[in-house]
Order: sequence, then C-alpha cells, then structure tokens
Amino acid sequence: MYMKRYYFDYAAATPLDSSAEKAMRPYGSGIFGNPGSLHSFGQEASAAVFEARDTIAKSLGCHYSEIIFTGSATEANNLALRGVVKAAMKGGIKNPKIITSQTEHDSVLGTCRDLEGEGVEVIYLPVNADGIVDLKKLEAELNDRTVLVSIMLANNEIGVIQSISKVSEIIRNFREAQRQKSLGGQAKVKGLEVIYPLFHTDAVQGFNYLNCKAEELGADLLTLSAQKIYGPKGIGLLYARQNNESGIKNNGKQNSIIPNSKYLIHPIITGGGQERGFRSGTENVSGIIGFAKAVEVTDKLREKENKRLSVLQKYFLAKLKKVLPQAKLNGGEKNRLPNNINIYVPPKPGEKATAQDLVINLDLAGFAVSPGSACSARTCSPSHVLKALGHNDIRATSSIRITFGRQTDKQAVNNLLKAISKLK
Ligand code: PLP
Repeated sequence: MYMKRYYFDYAAATPLDSSAEKAMRPYGSGIFGNPGSLHSFGQEASAAVFEARDTIAKSLGCHYSEIIFTGSATEANNLALRGVVKAAMKGGIKNPKIITSQTEHDSVLGTCRDLEGEGVEVIYLPVNADGIVDLKKLEAELNDRTVLVSIMLANNEIGVIQSISKVSEIIRNFREAQRQKSLGGQAKVKGLEVIYPLFHTDAVQGFNYLNCKAEELGADLLTLSAQKIYGPKGIGLLYARQNNESGIKNNGKQNSIIPNSKYLIHPIITGGGQERGFRSGTENVSGIIGFAKAVEVTDKLREKENKRLSVLQKYFLAKLKKVLPQAKLNGGEKNRLPNNINIYVPPKPGEKATAQDLVINLDLAGFAVSPGSACSARTCSPSHVLKALGHNDIRATSSIRITFGRQTDKQAVNNLLKAISKLK
C-alpha cells in the first residue's frame, strides 16, 4: 500500500531546486566543452563558469577571484586547514597551531587529527551546555604560532549559531597587537608575520538562513556546499580572502595586513592549474551553474524562510512538550537555526533504545529524520557534539535530529508530532 513519506532531514541533503535543475540542463550534452579549451566550445563553458562565479561572489560580498570551487564542502574544509598549514610552513612557521572547537563537523575534526599526526598543534575549544564556544579560552590560546582559527557558523547537529563577529573581533585585535609588536621591534612588517591567525568559518549549514557576507563576518576563509542549499551534489567552494591593492583590508578597518591570497593557502590538489592553481581538475561546469542558481534563489528566500520556519520550530517545540513530555531539547533554544530541532528521547524503562531504533521506527511510519551526524547508516556511536555539551553516552546515542526545509509545512509537522507521540 502506498504510504505518504515526509522528509525531515534537510541538514543532510536538500532537494535540487527546480530553477537550478533547469539552469544546469544545457551543460550536459549541449554546452559540454572543457572550460580550459581555447576553442569556442570551451569558451562558452568558461564564460558560463565565470558568470556563475561572479553571481556567488556578489552574494558573499567578495571578488570573483576569491572563490575556489571544490568537489565538496569536505574538500573545501581540507583545503582551508591543510592549505593554510602548508603555506605557513613554507613561509617559515615551524610549529603551526590551529584552534578549532569540539563541535565542528568531522571534515574539520578529522583533518585536524590528521594534521596533529604531522606535528601541528591543535586546540579543540570546549563549548557550554547550549553549544556556544568558549571565547575566553580562544583568547587565551592565541599565540604567535597560531596560523588558523576554524569555528563553524552554525552546527550541523544542533543548529547552534556561533558569535562569529565576536570570534573575528578577537582575532583582529590579536593580529593588531602582533602588528604593533613587530612594528616596534624590528621596524618592519613582512606580511606573513602579521596575517596570522587567519579565520576560517564553515558556513555550510548557515547559508540558508544567515548573513554570509565574508567581510561582514570577518572571515578570511569560508566554506559552502551546494547540496545543502537546494543545489546539486558534488560541488562546494572555499572563499579565500585576497589582497586588495593597498594590502590593507579587514572589515573596512585598516588594522591588518593581508598579502596576496596565494600566501594564505597552498593547493592540496595539484595538476592542470585550474581555479588559479588552488584546485586543479576540470571544473564541474553544470554543478557550478546549479550552485550559482541555488545561491540566487536562497538569497531571495532567506528572510521569508527564516521567519516561516522559526514559527514552525516554536510550534513544534510547544506541542512536543505535550505529546512527548520526557523529550529534551539538545542545545540552547536561542541562537539556533530556525530549521533545527535535536531532541533526546529517553529509552523506556528496561529498554536500551538508540537513535538508530528511533530513526527506523519513524521511517517505518513514513518520517525521515536523522540520528545526528555521529550516526550513519553504517555505524552508530555517541555524538561528539552532544558529548561536548556535557551529555552522557545514553543521551548522546538516543537523540534525533529533525530538520525542516522549504517543503515543510504545518500539516507535515503535525503528522510528525503524531508519529512522535507514539514513541511514548
Ligand atoms: N560542514 C558541515 C557543517 C556539514 O554539515 C557538512 C555536511 O553535512 C559538511 C561540512 C560536509 O559537506 P559534504 O558532505 O558536502 O562534503
């Protein structure tokens, strides 16, 4: 018998927007040239990539040459972290240090752990019970070996939004102090000594709902993924701040010297020199076109969707208290993406329920939710994010993530609440 299915996992993947799909269509068999080719077939593909890059740059408030397309957000995060470390080491910094948080996505944490194996010092900042990063610790950990701070804009499991402007202010102040020191000491400023620490933010989950203008955030590097914003899979990007003519640029304040972005990062994939040498490999033309269209549509819908989903989120949480009073919200209610609800569903007495069981039961009833990113279809271990909030293993394995999106309406939410009430 046909069963209506409801999707509540927009933080994992979003359906391709119809206008993005339409924009991509000609780039399959019609306009198929390699953008690197000199002939007209290549040049029409190259022109389309240029236009798409410019569209995205305008959305991020940056120059088109500051966008590096990658195969995924995972790759963009790798490029940010590994690329900065490589450039710093080539610039003479022997024992680089990275500061990140305990609740970052695995693509940042896994890369950090790997870099630790290569001698990089990594500090994983703690968070409070709401999931907010400890900024006092950040300030205390900055030193002249710190080449990068990587703090995400919004968390993929609990939707907590970090105070990115406060993070960038701390970094800006530290850089300025370093600059004053080097001016006073050696009376010379040689770029690399004062550009660090750079600031990277993973804005993958934030872009649908938050301002992601790189300069306003004070980010030197910023990661996005098309597949989380109703664009195609297999395409991500890294924004990498570039020098302006004077070499002085930071939030409009003349207090930080940033040399040409070739110094900010070093490529991790080498070859034909695409993406100005920062990421070799033939461009994913249709993916880039779809990405740009998805960005355009998201820019138009952001405010409206933010308001609409905030109302639905409040409604859901109020109703949840009645239908499943034992459920507990993970992460603070404030400073949270409007589409994210992450709840602990305590196991029934005598039972050892896990998020996997909850997800399977809801799936059988037609509702797709997620056990959180620590659980995949293959493995299930306590969520590192929920553990960082201070929760025990039971709570960190028996929580589910519900994420709303453009197709979520009140009726779908009511139906989900009905299904959840049966978990009692
Ligand atoms: N960063 C965040 C915050 C994410 O949520 C994800 C995916 O869930 C990624 C990075 C990695 O994205 P992708 O799987 O597209 O590489």
